[in-house]
Amino acid sequence: MSEADKFLYRDGGKVANPLDQADWATKKLVWIPSETLGFVAGSVKEEKGEECVVELADTGKKVTVNKDDIQKMNPPKFSKVEDMAELTCLNEASVLHNLKDRYYSGLIYTYSGLFCVVINPYKYLPIYSENIIEMYKGKKRHEMPPHIYAITDTAYRSMMQDREDQSILCTGESGAGKTENTKKVIQYLAHVASSFKSKKDQVSTMARNHGELEKQLLQANPILEAFGNGKTVKNDNSSRFGKFIRINFDVNGYIVGANIETYLLEKSRAIRQAKDERAFHVFYYMLTGAGDKMRSELCLEDYNNYRFLTHGNVTIPGQQDRDLFVETMDAFNIMSIPEEERIGLLKIVSAVLQLGNMSFKKERNSDQASMPDDTAAQKVCHLLGMNVTDFTRAILSPRIKVGRDYVQKAQTQEQAEFAVEALAKASYERMFRWLVMRINKALDKTKRQGASFIGILDIAGFEIFELNSFEQLCINYTNEKLQQLFNHTMFVLEQEEYQREGIEWSFIDFGLDLQPCIDLIEKHASPPGVLALLDEECWFPKATDKSFVEKVVQEQGNNPKFQKPKKLKDSADFCIIHYAGKVDYKADEWLMKNMDPLNDNVASLLNQSTDKFVSELWKDVDRIVGLDKVAGMSDGGIHGAMKVRKGMFRTVGQLYKEQLSNLMTTLRNTNPNFVRCIIPNHEKKAGKLEPHLVLDQLRCNGVLEGIRICRQGFPNRIVFQEFRQRYEILTPSTIPKGFMDGKQACVLMIKALELDSNLFRIGQSKVFFRAGVLAHLEEERDIKI
Ligand code: ADP
Ligand code: MG
Repeated sequence: MSEADKFLYRDGGKVANPLDQADWATKKLVWIPSETLGFVAGSVKEEKGEECVVELADTGKKVTVNKDDIQKMNPPKFSKVEDMAELTCLNEASVLHNLKDRYYSGLIYTYSGLFCVVINPYKYLPIYSENIIEMYKGKKRHEMPPHIYAITDTAYRSMMQDREDQSILCTGESGAGKTENTKKVIQYLAHVASSFKSKKDQVSTMARNHGELEKQLLQANPILEAFGNGKTVKNDNSSRFGKFIRINFDVNGYIVGANIETYLLEKSRAIRQAKDERAFHVFYYMLTGAGDKMRSELCLEDYNNYRFLTHGNVTIPGQQDRDLFVETMDAFNIMSIPEEERIGLLKIVSAVLQLGNMSFKKERNSDQASMPDDTAAQKVCHLLGMNVTDFTRAILSPRIKVGRDYVQKAQTQEQAEFAVEALAKASYERMFRWLVMRINKALDKTKRQGASFIGILDIAGFEIFELNSFEQLCINYTNEKLQQLFNHTMFVLEQEEYQREGIEWSFIDFGLDLQPCIDLIEKHASPPGVLALLDEECWFPKATDKSFVEKVVQEQGNNPKFQKPKKLKDSADFCIIHYAGKVDYKADEWLMKNMDPLNDNVASLLNQSTDKFVSELWKDVDRIVGLDKVAGMSDGGIHGAMKVRKGMFRTVGQLYKEQLSNLMTTLRNTNPNFVRCIIPNHEKKAGKLEPHLVLDQLRCNGVLEGIRICRQGFPNRIVFQEFRQRYEILTPSTIPKGFMDGKQACVLMIKALELDSNLFRIGQSKVFFRAGVLAHLEEERDIKI
């Protein structure tokens, strides 16, 4: 066995130790629930009505348990099974046991029907080398141990064979390994698409271009991570945005271009971080990595001088920010993003920090804000190409439209501080968006239309905290839609195929329709959903977060997916019954988060900036809603908001809903492959798996439900021709010599195999099997060969 094999193949192969087998049969082994271990093994000693006496395998202690709490144990030949859909006893205990058993043996990937489950190993594994890629290339899924490469290869082959676009969807909680697996998918495709070429490569100039494009594709990640990732308590390299990477291929399977779409950047991280967390990596890279010339050009200061990094000056174990700065700049080079554009980006990053150092005071005789020291403002203006007098005036006493006239309106200290923070966040977000656009320009330079594509989605899974805000609503809404896509794929497509093949099958309503919850969130009217009500409220005079909550309760109070919390005093404002469970939402600041207002006076100055790059970032100022237009921000109130040109301004909720709807349309036209990433513990520790933490995730992400449903259908299928070729050896002399129709031959073979009629269906072109049947035939075949 090679070093890598240990992390891919289960030991002992598929044949169980006869002693274990006998043990299992005589001892009546079962699983019973355990508070610490999830489940523990025991052997049934006695049955008394509703209860059983079970002797625990580890301690020998006897306990009495209710029969309903007992879960059957699988025979030992299923130990560390690669696809859990094959388990004969399919229950939570067996699924957890199997995943745990595999994980402790270093096997992090496991299939579960249509899902691939991966548990973060939190350590280096030698399973991602080019040798391993070569091993997986062109193999069928069942020929190789579970791996993200197997999923990717299957997607690539189906794309080539069926000309069908593909998607690979990685979800899971923060730190579960979504981004790492996404990178492996890209690494695999970049390798396969170019080695593909080198074999039958006649057009060498084209090949060189491809090689370069693949390099650039691989370098997009470090750049995006520098600007969009940061250290959180859960993950030292946490992506603070979602992304969908679309890789386009031509008819020969070459990569011809790529495109990245990003979702919901957590821009507040630029100005504020929780304890032990950091701002985006690029802040630290820049502050430690920039040379003297750049330091003065960017007006950089020491870490400790920046108020926005108050919590953020922690180091990440084993991470050298200085080296990573060099790496990021190298990535820019490979991406052909020139020096001046890089400086443009970093100037914004520096200006964001500098904005945090502007400080205001309340004037002695009024509520008006003043700015006693304008050093920081001068630096901001130097970096952003603005006149400092204009900028200061725009912050302290902006011009506001009242009726038909404009008046100067002095701001309070609170208003000025709010404006500056909003400006810092908006600048960072615009800069990030521009960067993504620029990367896309680099990745699309062949301008060749791809024949088909593989899309890879890396987005947060369901989030259920103690109290949840607008951000969680958006991500949970996304996950409802993704889960619905999964259900759609699994049931509808499955059943359509049964129908096409004309096999006997009664359509089952699995009661999994997620539409009611999706409607509760996104429905436009009758009754309007949460997002529509929030939008409505944003335009309403004197609206508050509280009045929004009242409207939701009024409109959706009877929706079965909606609940008013039992005790209202301290906790949630309302609950939504999501697919993954009940989620408590608190609506503080939702109006503000949805409107995302800005000081439009400053926005105009930025639009007119003498710096070309800055004015480019701010070219769409007419889409901004001014601070004075938002309820609660000024006595001007919301009336002014009505005057924002209709059709131009979009709320955050609206924009996201549109973006998500586009994503879903794209995904629905692909063949989706689901990768469920699991975090084993919250200490970033290798070799430790918290059973209840894992069980919760398996429930949330539909793995447990999925397996159950998968087994009700016929998950394995094989075309007649292949079935005959592969298994004729099991039914010698059944098929007469000479020509015989494929279907007829299969019917004869199946008859000879004496399979129970419930285990298979014979369609128009394929034979369908219940989970596990093909595996059994494979075993028999192994013995014969
Ligand atoms: P997510 O994107 O789901 O938040 P990441 O993919 O960033 O999580 O993973 C978090 C960390 O866990 C990584 O930085 C890495 O240290 C570790 N990790 C995740 N997957 C693997 C893997 N397959 N092999 C080794 N380490 C991993
Ligand atoms: Mg991530």
